[in-house]
Amino acid sequence: MKIDWLPLVEMIRSHDRFLLTSHQRADCDAIGSEMALALILETIGKQVAVVNADEVPEHIAFMDPYGRVGVLGATAPLEALRGFDAMIVVDTSAWSQLGGMADVLRGFRGAKAVIDHHASEDDLGAAVFKDNTAEATGRLILQLAKELGVPITPEIAAPLFAAIATDTGWFRFPSVTADTFAALAKLTAAGASPAKTFAELFEQHSLPRLHLRGRILERVKPECHGRMMWTEVSAIDFRETNAQKTDTEDVINMLLTVKGVEVALLFVELEPTVTKVSLRSRSAFDVNQLANQFGGGGHKAAAGITFAGPMIEAQQAVLEAVRLGMGECESK
Ligand code: 5GP
Ligand code: MN
Ligand code: MN
Repeated sequence: MKIDWLPLVEMIRSHDRFLLTSHQRADCDAIGSEMALALILETIGKQVAVVNADEVPEHIAFMDPYGRVGVLGATAPLEALRGFDAMIVVDTSAWSQLGGMADVLRGFRGAKAVIDHHASEDDLGAAVFKDNTAEATGRLILQLAKELGVPITPEIAAPLFAAIATDTGWFRFPSVTADTFAALAKLTAAGASPAKTFAELFEQHSLPRLHLRGRILERVKPECHGRMMWTEVSAIDFRETNAQKTDTEDVINMLLTVKGVEVALLFVELEPTVTKVSLRSRSAFDVNQLANQFGGGGHKAAAGITFAGPMIEAQQAVLEAVRLGMGECESK
């Protein structure tokens, strides 16, 4: 899929003050795309602010070394969001993923654009620059830099490398193509360091994170003759291990390491009545479609749901839908 960048290039050229945002519980693709886009826009003389609904998660704080991501209502009060003439959303097309920034976007009077690679999409009332086949929004930002004629500095290359590295599970997901490596080669030549990025991403974890993962893995339950695996983590687990909510990231992919598994689910008790469900597939089973049934979304092979109910209810409802969808699978 190829994006026609021209309307966005024109929008960028004809505006001066840009407000950038991305999804809640940001990942490296969200922050990396924001950081790189901010620098790219500044290179061509634009004023840029980056404001998200919540803080940069601690374990990816290295993505924002100068603390430039503002937090809505905290470091970036609502009044401070006046005076921008363009707003760009990166790495999400879902109202539900924007948190408090959804209202800001709704009320924004200037030009609006979305740069994204998610299959699911709400009408955000903005011009859409999307490639569902792209492995990361970061690669789309790299394309945009080229369209704008902005050279890739080490400061732009590093966050884009991290964005692509994380959204591809360190280059191993099916979304990885020759284009991925062509982009990575460009970014590495421009100053990104694969070794440094790996160390920052995967060798800076806390001991509580490791302990939490232990609990999550110990509890993995097989169903459908091992074709489906699911596990859970409760508020008590977070408390007892002293781990953060973001420490569940990536652990679901370990469920896919078991032979024969096609679909994996992780239930996270965020609050007594809010359950985060992560879904992964490595078969034809489309977890995006399943997530859509519950107001969630994502991609065919990786999706999520923010379920408005206790964990037990989320499990009953979502697991039953998966069992039904997978066929040849005993119902409980
Ligand atoms: P994860 O399970 O890693 O949090 O998310 C996997 C994918 O699903 C990501 O691409 C993410 O953007 C999407 N996703 C996660 N949670 C939600 C959600 O509550 N709503 C929607 N629309 N997408 C989600
Ligand atoms: Mn993301
Ligand atoms: Mn992404």
